[in-house]
Formats: sequence, structure tokens, C-alpha cells
Amino acid sequence: MADEKTAKLEAFRKEVRAWLRANLPKGWGTPEYKVLEGFTQERHDLGKWWTKKCYEAGYTGFGYPKEYGGIERPREEIMVIREEMARTGTPGAPSSLGLLLAAPTLMAHGQEWQKKRFIPKIMSGEESWCEGFSEPNAGSDLANVQTYAVRDGDEWVVKGQKCWTSMWKFADFGILIVKTDLKAPRHRNLTAFIFDTTSKGFERRPLRQMTDESEFGELFFDDMRIPHANMMGEQGRGWYVAMTTLTAERSMGGEQVVSQQGGEIRLGSGVDNLIELARARKRFGKALWDDPVYRQKIAQAAIEEDAYRSWGPAFRAKARKGGASLGATLSFEASVSKNYWAESRQRRAMLIEDMLGSYSQLMSGSKHAVAEGSWVYEILRSRGASIEMGTTEINRNIIAERILGLPREDSAKKAQEK
Ligand SMILES: Cc1cc2nc3c(=O)[nH]c(=O)nc-3n(C[C@H](O)[C@H](O)[C@H](O)COP(=O)(O)OP(=O)(O)OC[C@H]3O[C@@H](n4cnc5c(N)ncnc54)[C@H](O)[C@@H]3O)c2cc1C
Repeated sequence: MADEKTAKLEAFRKEVRAWLRANLPKGWGTPEYKVLEGFTQERHDLGKWWTKKCYEAGYTGFGYPKEYGGIERPREEIMVIREEMARTGTPGAPSSLGLLLAAPTLMAHGQEWQKKRFIPKIMSGEESWCEGFSEPNAGSDLANVQTYAVRDGDEWVVKGQKCWTSMWKFADFGILIVKTDLKAPRHRNLTAFIFDTTSKGFERRPLRQMTDESEFGELFFDDMRIPHANMMGEQGRGWYVAMTTLTAERSMGGEQVVSQQGGEIRLGSGVDNLIELARARKRFGKALWDDPVYRQKIAQAAIEEDAYRSWGPAFRAKARKGGASLGATLSFEASVSKNYWAESRQRRAMLIEDMLGSYSQLMSGSKHAVAEGSWVYEILRSRGASIEMGTTEINRNIIAERILGLPREDSAKKAQEK
């Protein structure tokens, strides 16, 4: 029986390999094939094309019910698909936050028609999403959102601005948190909506980051109209919708993201790449991988990556036990996962900086940049990890108050003042 199962899985593995050989872009995996990186339209379109192909073949879209476009497969087959995709590498998913945060939020708070309309197109990569939460004066203090919406018949009219919106450029839809009640107390005055980026009165502009790219941008709403039917969750309960979204992204959407990207969960640059870098870089005539200090640091990076990978399934199991499924409720453990990811990624970036020495100052475009500046990109991009999805300090506050039971920040302050 066990032999039969193994033989069946081996046959399936052959099938997946053959499919990948036949469907990956021409020249994929050869030195001549230039892998597209960054937030370009070309890279996004390639991700869309690839995801659609995978979805149609039944190689992505796992973990969601069939009626919302989910693809059902035995767990062992999913593992085979992931292993084979990780082995060959794939063009990855489109530049979108659909899978990471929109689909889990829709599952938890979306109306039936919203789940049926939007989730399948997220799974197939056809439609992209962004998250319109932060504003110039509402980052950590998200409850201070000033963008507001006023009801006009069957529509809401939105005015205001959002900023630092990741994947802003490619988004077809977004989750928007706005004030809908100017008199209600904080946390009870917000409502979540799904907005269409082709709506009249909507405009988006890039923001330039230290990496020299525009992964995030600004959104402007000048009397943009949203149908009332696009409300997600109840009126005045937008805070809870936002917390579900943040929980999903802080836990990194776990398996969902991995399944679409066909890779492994990583803390930035993988350990195998660090080893290659240590082999190539020399100090005082010796390769860094012969140096005991660097060997220790790389081993530490490997331990952290393994711990992070093992932690994901445990986190999801715990969340499910507490009654949550696919982002249905809040789980404060997500803050532990987020901080661990951010801090390990930054430690790894500092190790890269150390290994590159003075070459760590040369960005893409310099003829002396190592690996066309991709290492320096990782060093610079890692800084944002402790800010995005809630800063490290905010997540520590959540861990202290909600998991460890320490007094709330404001009550601790009051006690000090006494
Ligand atoms: C790469 C990147 C991508 C992003 N993508 C998105 C996106 O897609 N959508 C979106 O809506 N937003 C996005 N953001 C915005 C992000 O959520 C905010 O930048 C973040 O919440 C912090 O808000 P802020 O920048 O206003 O900093 P502030 O809130 O002004 O914080 C400044 C400093 O004060 C500290 N601080 C603030 N309050 C407290 C407190 N109570 N206790 C202790 N310390 C505190 C903070 O930790 C921080 O160090 C992104 C940010 C980055 C860097």
C-alpha cells in the first residue's frame, strides 16, 4: 500500500516536472535568461501570466474553499508541486497584496458576493490588490485616519489621502479604511470598503524609496464614489477589519504566499546565497567562508531561517485551535512572527554588508557593484521590515499587553506619573 502511494507520488512528480519544462518561459534557468526583478510593469505582467498558467493547471490556489475558486489537492501533492517549483525556480506571483492580505480579509469579513467575485481572481493572479490604511498622521496610530466617506444614496463619497501604499501601481482593487462617523469614539468610527482603482476621483503617485524604486506610493481620493455594496464588514467596525488584515500580513500569509510563488519561506536572501557570497568574497587573501567568525554567523542565519520556517505551521495550528480559520479572527502571535522576521532579516542584511565591505556602498548602476547591486538592494530594503505592517515597537507593545499580560501602555504611563 505504502509502495503504491510512493509510486503514485513519483509519477505525479514526473508530471509536474514535465509541465514545468513545457511551460516555464523559454530559456528559463540558463545563464542567458535574465530574471526580471523589482516593481516594473514587465515583471508584474510576467507574474500575472505565470500565476494564471499555474492556476489553470491546478498548481496554485490552495487552502481556499472550492466555491471561492480554491483548488483542492491532497497535501502530499501540494508538497511535490512546491518542491519542484522551488527546485526550478519560477517567475513568481504578480506584484500584489491580494494573496497576502486581501483574500484572508475577504474570507473573514466579506459578503458572500464579494468572496465569490474577488477571491477566484486573486487566486488566478488576474486581479491585484493594495492596502489603503496609513496616512501622513495615521501610521502607528491607525485609529487617527482622517480620510472620510459620506453616504449619498447607494454610494459613499470619499475624500482624503493615503500614503506608503505598497504595490500601489498595479492594484486593480484596494481595501480602504475610512472614517464614516465624525462623532463616534475612536475605533468605532471607521468602516472598511473595497475600492476600484479605475474609479473617477482616484489618483495615485509614486514615492521614491532609499532603494531608488517606488514599491510604495500615495493615493488620493477626490470625491471618489464607492457603491454601498462594497462595504466590507459592518459600518463602524472597520477597525476590526483592519486588524484582521494586519494579522494576516504579520503572519506572512504563510502557505498562501508560498504556494503562489512556488518557493520557500525565506528571511530575505536565502542561506545558500549567503554561502555563495562567503565563498566568493575574500579578506586578507582568504575566502570568508574559511573565517570562523563568518562561519558562525552564517550558521546562526541558517538556524534563524529554520526556526522561522518551523514556526509558521505551529502558529497556524494555534490560530485554528482558537477558532480562527484563514484569517477569520485576530491572533496576537502574528506580532511575534512579524518581529522575528523583521529582526532576523535585518541581522542578515548587516552580515551581507559586513561581507561586502566597501562594495556595500555600490548600488545597481555602478560598474563595480557586486551582483549588479542586488545585495545592496537587500541591505537597503531590509530597513523597511521593522516599519511595514506595524513597527517593531508597536508589535512589542502588542506582545507585552496581549500575550504577556503586562499593563497597557497608557496605564503604565499613568502609574509612573503618580
Ligand atoms: C516598506 C513599507 C511598506 C508599507 N506598505 C504599506 C501599505 O501597503 N499600506 C499602508 O497602509 N501602509 C504601509 N506602510 C506604512 C506603515 O504601516 C507605517 O509606516 C507604519 O505603521 C509606521 O507609521 P509611521 O510611518 O507613521 O511612523 P510613526 O507612527 O510616526 O512612528 C514613528 C516612530 O515612533 C514609534 N512609535 C509610535 N507610536 C508608538 C508607541 N505607541 N509605542 C512605542 N513606539 C511608538 C514607532 O515605532 C516609530 O519608531 C508601509 C511602510 C513601509 C516602510
